[in-house]
Amino acid sequence: MASRFLRPDSLAVHAGREDLADLGVHAPPLDLSSTNPLPDVEAGGLSYEAMASGGTPLAEGGAVYARLWNPTVARFEEALAALEHAEAAVAFSSGMAAFTAVTLARVHETGRRHVVAVRPLYGGTDHLLTSGLLGTETTFCRPGEIAGAVRPDTALVVLETPANPTLDLVDIRAAVTAAGPVPVLVDNTFATPVLQNPLDHGAAFALHSATKYLGGHGDVIGGVVACSAEHAAALRRVRAVTGALLHPLGGYLLHRGLATLPVRVRAQQDNARRVAAWLAAHPQVTAVHYPELAGDPRGLLGRQMRGPGAMLAVELRGGYAAARNVTSAVRLFTHAVSLGGVDSLIQHPRALTHRPVTAEAKPGEGLVRLSIGLEDPADLIADLDQALAPDRSAPRSGGEAGADAGRQPVAH
Ligand SMILES: *Cc1c(COP(=O)(O)O)cnc(C)c1O
Repeated sequence: MASRFLRPDSLAVHAGREDLADLGVHAPPLDLSSTNPLPDVEAGGLSYEAMASGGTPLAEGGAVYARLWNPTVARFEEALAALEHAEAAVAFSSGMAAFTAVTLARVHETGRRHVVAVRPLYGGTDHLLTSGLLGTETTFCRPGEIAGAVRPDTALVVLETPANPTLDLVDIRAAVTAAGPVPVLVDNTFATPVLQNPLDHGAAFALHSATKYLGGHGDVIGGVVACSAEHAAALRRVRAVTGALLHPLGGYLLHRGLATLPVRVRAQQDNARRVAAWLAAHPQVTAVHYPELAGDPRGLLGRQMRGPGAMLAVELRGGYAAARNVTSAVRLFTHAVSLGGVDSLIQHPRALTHRPVTAEAKPGEGLVRLSIGLEDPADLIADLDQALAPDRSAPRSGGEAGADAGRQPVAH
């Protein structure tokens, strides 16, 4: 595809749109068909067979049924694959559905059931692996312990960099070396393909919660995995039988989101740098977790990641009470989970996104995570300034309860 030779910013705008002029349209068509007219039994059957075995529809037979293939979703997949320097990409109904499909595909393809997972991870991923729901057994480890954790029956190594919520960076190349023949999945949600391309460093899978930066506007849930054509075929087979599809409207919105992704990520990163520097000097803040401020002993900024991104976490002197107060006191930031959108969000991982993880993997009581958006950074700083004001950090009644008080979430 000619557009693959374009630079990333141009690709983001043009990938998956090469045929539009020939179609006589300017915006990608949104095909909502759940089923497709069949030319005849034979051609339809052959196309069905091609898709059910992980391929794309045959021209003579058509798409048959939308659980097998959808052209609007395929445009998003093609564009994301180009941005991730991958042969292919497969989209799903959510980031968790994407992760589930990779795990099921690996277990099914290899007959192995063991997963090595590098902590910290997004709470949902950690919880899914701990639960054993997918029939896997997981060894959790630190980045330096991968080689010792891999076994003959290991099907997959999973890591996240920057990691959610601590913004720890993991050396992908070193992890791939330690994993040996076992494929490595990198959750690239925080970095986006704008700042990091895991496949260039030897990873087999780059996974995104597309809900976050790729969509970028807080109005679509989706997931996508960029990988080789062979792995993609296995993922499409899982998707066809389990049905964790991205809706075509989601595919349309995510494809549109990619066009502005590089501009959004760079502008949000500029804002995050300002906010991080301001927070680092605040007397209520004991630590700022932001790749550029954390020190970078392994030199991963520049070599692996092209910038620090727009996610950060802070530890507050006043612990849980201070975290609760600041998340309640913000006015411009929205107190909400999720991340990566045009508007800034703040949340307390221990109480929310990482609530279901086991005790040893829980983030700190005073840790608050911020997703920096496109607002003027001076307004974001002014909002944090009023929310962190000393008269607010005094615990309110009941402030000693701690994040884990009250009911535990239902596991499944
Ligand atoms: C949100 C998130 C996920 C899960 O994605 P969903 O789209 O919510 O299913 C996975 N990994 C990371 C890093 C996330 O932030």
